[in-house]
Order: sequence, then C-alpha cells, then structure tokens
Amino acid sequence: MEKVRLGRTEMMVTGLGFGGIPIQRVSEEEAIAVVNKCLDLGINFLDTANGYTTSEERIGRAIKGKREEIILATKSLARTREDMEKHLKLSLERLGTDYIDLYQLHNVSDAEALETVLDPNGPRGVIEDAKKAGVVKHIGITSHQIDVAKDIIKTDLFETIMFPFNFMAYKGNDELLSLARQHDVGFIAMKPLAGGMIANATIAIKYLLQFPDIVLIPGIERVPEIEEIARVFEGPKELTAAEKQEMERIKEELGTRFCRKCDYCQPCTAGIPISDVMAFPNLAKRLPPVRLYSGKFAESFEKAADCTDCGECEERCPYNLPIRDMIKEHLKMHRAGKKEYEKQLAS
Ligand code: SF4
Ligand code: SF4
Repeated sequence: MEKVRLGRTEMMVTGLGFGGIPIQRVSEEEAIAVVNKCLDLGINFLDTANGYTTSEERIGRAIKGKREEIILATKSLARTREDMEKHLKLSLERLGTDYIDLYQLHNVSDAEALETVLDPNGPRGVIEDAKKAGVVKHIGITSHQIDVAKDIIKTDLFETIMFPFNFMAYKGNDELLSLARQHDVGFIAMKPLAGGMIANATIAIKYLLQFPDIVLIPGIERVPEIEEIARVFEGPKELTAAEKQEMERIKEELGTRFCRKCDYCQPCTAGIPISDVMAFPNLAKRLPPVRLYSGKFAESFEKAADCTDCGECEERCPYNLPIRDMIKEHLKMHRAGKKEYEKQLAS
C-alpha cells in the first residue's frame, strides 16, 4: 500500500489509515478482527482517542506483538494539565505500549480551546514533556473549524492537523491543505465518507485520491467496509465522467444543511439524540420503513418532540447548522411518514 510522508514528522504512513471510532459499537471480537484485517491489508496507521470508550483498549489487544510495525495515533480532549497527564497515562496503558507515535490535542475548534492549548503551561506542556522523554514521538492537533485550523497551522507548534475532508465538507478545504503544505504540517483527513453520509465509498475515496499527500482515516466498523475501501484505494485513481456526475448529484441531494454526525452538539438539554434526527431525510431513502418508524429510531423522534428551543446545541455545532429548524422539519416529515406506514400496516 502506498505511503505518504506525514509532513515534518517524516513518518511514512499508508495513505489509507484506520479511524477507531466505530469499533466501540461492535463486540470486542469483531473490533479486533477489523483491526487485524487493516494490518493484513498493509495499513500501518491506526488512529483512536481517549474519548472513544473501548477503542484504545481494543486496538491495544489487536496489536499485541506487532507494535513496531504500526504508527499509533491517539488524542485527548483534556484542557488542563492534570487531565492530560491522566489521559496520556491511560492511553499508554490501554494501548499496551510505552510510546505513542502521534499524540493529538483533540477537537480544538474555537478560540478559547486554541488559547488553552497554545499555553505552554497548559495541557500541551504535558505532551511536550512526554515528547522530550521519548514517550510521545510527535505532536498533532485536530479541529472541526476551518478558521481555527488555519490559525493552528500558522503557529508552527503542531506537526500534523486532522480535519474533516470529503467532497461534502467545507469549500475552503483546498486552501487549508495548501496552508498545511506550506508549513509542512502533515494532513490527516477525518470523515472521508462524511461520517457515513456518503454511501458511495468508491466516489468518496477516489475524490480524495486526487490529493496524494494526505492520509485518509475512514472510521471502520466491519471487515467488508475496509476491504471495499482498500480495493478502491489500490485501484484507478481518476474519477470517471459518470462518477463525477454522480458526485454532483450526491452533493445536491445531501445539500448544504448536512449533518456530519460528529455529535459535538451533545449533550442536548432534553436528551435528544440530535444526529439521528438530523439524518432523517437521508436515512428515509435508505432504510426500510420498519427501521424508521419503530424501535430505536422512532424513540429518537419521540424525544425530538421535547426540544425546548434552548439553542445550546447550535452554539456547539462546528458547522453552524440550524439544528432547531431542522429538528422541527424532520419531526414533521417523520410524523407524516409514520402515519402513512401505520395506515399501510392496518390495511
Ligand atoms: S435546542 Fe433542542 S435539540 Fe438543541 S440542545 Fe436545546 S433542547 Fe436539545
Ligand atoms: S448537528 Fe452539528 S454538531 Fe450535531 S452532529 Fe450534526 S454536524 Fe455535528
């Protein structure tokens, strides 16, 4: 599998990496099988986070005895030195290693968070000390907000940046990537399939292959998913005319009010699973009615009716989505669909 020089870290990383969020959702056995499949396919870059519940631990179990072949990245949302010390210690324990190749400050997406992580006496200081001690090899950062990400790159304090990058993402992504290149900051593309919203993996991955110096880390839950993506990765790089046309169609279909399912809007003050509700129009095209109008999804919509319009979620959404309006619209659509579904069941 082709490798990419990850900016000034000088690490040679496979252009296709592994995003460790979804393995929290499956059994431990399945999670370990997914990680092993990635390694078998030649992937050498695994990314996880302190905040991804069981992910670090499961990756740690899967890579036992293979540590040296792997470039391991993790991250922490810590905003104090104390929390960062705890998180780093936990990452080492859970991953079963005595060093981490890339430790990232996680989700630095507003000015306040940036100020905190720029303070040399804040959480970054802990990671800098760990780097001097050889426990951390390189320091990176992740963000969801393009202006903050640009400011981060310009500081020259971080060796890598991780940012959402897919054909549905921000228009300014090309500019961000060229800034990262100018500063020799390694670019890691999170959400190459827009958090699962782009169902056509071939088009999503081929679109990104036009940027040969970035590392893609699709979140992988099951073995067939990574097999499919790896096939695309190793296949022809150019999008065909028909694929380009289909990409435009998908863009139009998903529109500008596109939820990336990042869940940064949580916690909702009324306990609403916001990203489930936001995804409704897209899911309505893909899921059978029984999945939409009964069970967990129907419960999410019952909760959605409890929205108090407090607006707290919108303050936290890195994409500035009009969450309250969208919840109301999707609730209306869901009610109409459910009525129709129940009518059909009764007839
Ligand atoms: S506006 Fe509604 S969805 Fe958003 S946090 Fe408040 S109650 Fe939750
Ligand atoms: S509404 Fe915004 S913050 Fe919430 S999941 Fe969607 S994109 Fe993320």
